[in-house]
Amino acid sequence: QAKARGRNNVQLFHPEMLDAVRERSRITAELRTAVAGGELALLYQPVVELGSGKVIGVEALLRWHHPVRGTILPGSFIGIAEETGLIFELGRWVLHEGLAQMRRWNRSDPDLPDFCLHINLSAAELLRPDLLEDIRDTLARNGVDPRRLVLEITETVLMSRGTGEEQVLSRLRELGVGLQIDDFGTGYSSISYLRSLPADTVKVDQSLIKDMESDPRQQQFVAAILQLISAAGLSATVEGIETAEQATQLQAMGCLHGQGYFYGYPVPAARIPDQLRRPARRL
Ligand code: C2E
Ligand code: MG
Ligand code: MG
Ligand code: MG
Repeated sequence: QAKARGRNNVQLFHPEMLDAVRERSRITAELRTAVAGGELALLYQPVVELGSGKVIGVEALLRWHHPVRGTILPGSFIGIAEETGLIFELGRWVLHEGLAQMRRWNRSDPDLPDFCLHINLSAAELLRPDLLEDIRDTLARNGVDPRRLVLEITETVLMSRGTGEEQVLSRLRELGVGLQIDDFGTGYSSISYLRSLPADTVKVDQSLIKDMESDPRQQQFVAAILQLISAAGLSATVEGIETAEQATQLQAMGCLHGQGYFYGYPVPAARIPDQLRRPARRL
């Protein structure tokens, strides 16, 4: 039909494209009001010591409880937030809420075992002008030791970092905050980069262990990656552990820490103290 309409023979807009554009601008507009409207929430997923199942940290995962559409996962709005700059506001909210929750946990239960809070940072957030100040102030305001905060940053960000990002990362380390490379194994994962990355720990992406149980070559591959991480002087956490077999295999490979549905789903804050006291699973 495009042909019939004009001699340029190019149809720039498909109706679906228009729908997608409308959908995005609707999400953008709604996301703008979501923060003030109290529609955002954090769930917390345990990070465990593989053998004992002991919870050593929790990762804050953002949820958007939309009044009409129900709960929306970050995969559907983080990208849009990054493109529109709204990510600064979302990131600020996540930081404030996560650390305020650390304070609440400590207050309501001073004898809780020590654990870290993990927060995901988008690439763009490293260039938020007030990021460092905000992190320092929010930690202090809530009485949280910087060593109990771990920032998860995807490997692609770390690989393409410019001098701006580099500076922020080293100042964060000076502050005592932990830096973790997230989604390791999905980006370029250059071996030579691994040693120069400004991080303490690495989180191996769940896609790498998907077929591990049934595929011996994948097992060898994962084992090699874990060795590589350790040779670079970093410690590894593997995410997406769903079965006891996976956990057992990873432990045999010398992996110490893990995360996944086998150990615990992302849950509301109120469920965390119990999990800290009694490990859900041990091997
Ligand atoms: P991520 O940081 O790699 O988090 C892991 C994702 O895998 C989470 O999805 C988690 O719910 C899911 N997951 C955990 N265990 C398992 C498992 O055993 N099996 C499977 N199949 N999945 C598992 P979620 O919550 O939908 O988050 C998706 C991504 O959105 C995160 O990936 C992170 O990159 C981003 N994200 C989440 N919260 C925030 C946030 O507060 N700020 C920013 N900037 N990004 C966030
Ligand atoms: Mg993460
Ligand atoms: Mg991941
Ligand atoms: Mg991620």
